[in-house]
Amino acid sequence: MFQRVLIANRGEIALRIIRACTELDIESVVVFSKADAGAKYLEQADEAICIGPGPSAQSYLSIPNIISAAEIADVDAVHPGYGFLAENAHFAEVCRANNIEFIGPDVDTIRRVGDKAQARAAAIAAGIPIVDGSEGPVEGDEEALEVAHRVGYPVLIKAVSGGGGRGMRVAHNDISLISNMATARTEAEVAFGDPSIYVEKYLENPRHVEVQILGDKHGNVVHLGERECSVQRRHQKVIEEAPSPAVTPDMRKKIGRAAVKLGKSVGYHGAGTVEFLLAGKKFHFIEVNARIQVEHPVTELITGVDLIKEQLRMAAGEQMRFSQSQIRIKGHAIECRINAEDPDRNFVPSPGRVTRFDAPGGPGVRVDSHVTTDHWIPPNYDSMVAKLLVRGDTRDEAITRMRRALDELNIEGVATNTGLHRRIVRNAYFVQGDYNTGFLDELLST
Ligand code: ADP
Repeated sequence: MFQRVLIANRGEIALRIIRACTELDIESVVVFSKADAGAKYLEQADEAICIGPGPSAQSYLSIPNIISAAEIADVDAVHPGYGFLAENAHFAEVCRANNIEFIGPDVDTIRRVGDKAQARAAAIAAGIPIVDGSEGPVEGDEEALEVAHRVGYPVLIKAVSGGGGRGMRVAHNDISLISNMATARTEAEVAFGDPSIYVEKYLENPRHVEVQILGDKHGNVVHLGERECSVQRRHQKVIEEAPSPAVTPDMRKKIGRAAVKLGKSVGYHGAGTVEFLLAGKKFHFIEVNARIQVEHPVTELITGVDLIKEQLRMAAGEQMRFSQSQIRIKGHAIECRINAEDPDRNFVPSPGRVTRFDAPGGPGVRVDSHVTTDHWIPPNYDSMVAKLLVRGDTRDEAITRMRRALDELNIEGVATNTGLHRRIVRNAYFVQGDYNTGFLDELLST
């Protein structure tokens, strides 16, 4: 096992990784930018190293700065968390070239699945249905029109290197397709440094269902069931739950097997997620996330598997400790992403000082947060301040528990989306499990 790990991330996920390291008796070294200096969670690590000023490009996204920190700290591995450099194949390559293990899959695997067009090709090769669309990146207008006419409007233009629900555009006819293609290319270039785009059928209000996989370096890959992530605002997840109210035991077996098959076909090791859209009773592959995800704790709560500890074990070369049949799903878990954003101003980020932070507690409640009373939320990063999670024996129990936990949660000093969560968990459609990716945008427009 590793002796010392550098955490190349910030906030709640940095703290989550520190905690896993501590429990495994691994020393943790966390990096931080000047904007995060003084944050309490940094004290939980064995060492904290400043890697630059607030802007991510000069700190959390700076490969030279992070590699220097890893060398100074003399670590044997780097955990990238999610976001920032987590799916950056070049960063993984540089780490390994410096004899520092990158906690994630092989460089080739990251490249292959990170390119959405290549990931689609890998899914087809593994016999998994994908959303109908272009075979690879789309070069010119003619090609895009051909695809759109074949699959039928509406279509979705997506960035090959996209992520975070950004850079997607819907087109309903030839004119909007051509004009949106140009904008999508420019946006993709700015946001992801790659103008390549592809076109796929836009499914009307599907459900987003994803499968957690875990692989070791010896060819074993298992799945840990699915997560339902259809409560989204503008294609970004707001609430996740597991298991999905829409997935039957038979479907669970099928998509689980499909995800494992895909994982094996690309030589996957570490923790990863295979994402699908569920339209009617049919699953369509959309992408692979080659990293730990924000919503991983809902899976932890129903399987009892600590995914971060497993990532560390897998990266250190250990054998998988359980077989597929030993993974049991028990109970129901829900996660609410608590963001510092202003519901009265169209959910714009609301950075600033948290003057009071009272976390809920009691049976079945878990709060993953780096925030405390007096914490300063810098304007530079993601606005998520806490992940509020509950587990219940049944979905009904989880929902009533979440209502109670949300009522106990009290954050002062900054605006948050807590009120929106309180509304969602009381909504009749949510309670019935009858919702799709269009649910929240519709709720907000009424
Ligand atoms: P990202 O990598 O940017 O998160 P995803 O491919 O995971 O992008 O898609 C994010 C969300 O966008 C999905 O959960 C879904 O709500 C919506 N979406 C993506 N592809 C489609 C599609 N073909 N049809 C309808 N909605 C889609």
